[in-house]
Amino acid sequence: MIAIDQAKESAEQIGSLGRTVRMVRRLTFSAGHRYWRAVLSKEENVALFGTIASPYNHGHNYVLDVEVEGQVDESNGMVVNIKVIDDIVRRSVIERYHNKSINDEVPEFADRAPSLENMLESLWQEIDPLLPSEVSLTQLRLEEMPTLFGEKTMTDTLVKLTRVYEFAASHRLHADALSHEENLRLFGKCNHIHGHGHNYTLEVTVAGTPDPVSGMMCPLDQLDEIVEKTILKRYDHRNLNLDLPEYEGRNTTSEVVALQIFDDLKAAIETEISAGSFGSAHLYRVRVHETARNIFEVTN
Ligand SMILES: [Zn+2]
Ligand SMILES: [Zn+2]
Repeated sequence: MIAIDQAKESAEQIGSLGRTVRMVRRLTFSAGHRYWRAVLSKEENVALFGTIASPYNHGHNYVLDVEVEGQVDESNGMVVNIKVIDDIVRRSVIERYHNKSINDEVPEFADRAPSLENMLESLWQEIDPLLPSEVSLTQLRLEEMPTLFGEKTMTDTLVKLTRVYEFAASHRLHADALSHEENLRLFGKCNHIHGHGHNYTLEVTVAGTPDPVSGMMCPLDQLDEIVEKTILKRYDHRNLNLDLPEYEGRNTTSEVVALQIFDDLKAAIETEISAGSFGSAHLYRVRVHETARNIFEVTN
């Protein structure tokens, strides 16, 4: 009793009592997969999966982030012992997926497309029931490539898919409503009259429900085409202030750029992505990385 009281006392001192902490454990595995149903003809497979249909495997070095949340245990200062998470992950992910052909060797994908969307759903159902009661699974993030990852969170039934793009552009930070001195004071060297440039990274996230047969919520090649046409082709190697009419008279801060990109992409995705054999998807989030240290996010 005394020991518990002492532990509570020390927890109160560090302010951990009753507060939750989220923890992420990252793991990697390599696996092969294919988008192809043997029962269908070549034409039917192409109609179902689009340009990625193939009877042969390709592979990915997957990166899985397992995020759990719980209260700090006053007796040991931990949310959960990381060895417990590692053991669950080894049994439910590594031993089942690593160096395997997902279609052929992971039973739940014998008749189910091994898309990021379906894999996230499946991994959630594998990992969640195995976790000890003191933690809850709050998010899984599964990366197929640095330019494509999916997320499933506890608070949202929709799966999210993110594509990552790049463009290089110049701009000048300048607010017409302010004086020369005020602009200089506010924006410093970013107000230099001839401008400066960035290698921007653009993350485009769609959320939706996958089609039960194709396993996909959105044809990625169509999404790529929309982003290319709407944003990249127009922004890349351009001056945002001078080349793009939507920024005329506006200050091209990344806040303004992120909002503009979100609105333009939202409209294009709504009108141009054809459902076909895919589920439903809408624009959920846009992130603009102006530099590695400046990141701006707009959500639906
Ligand atoms: Zn793949
Ligand atoms: Zn800048």
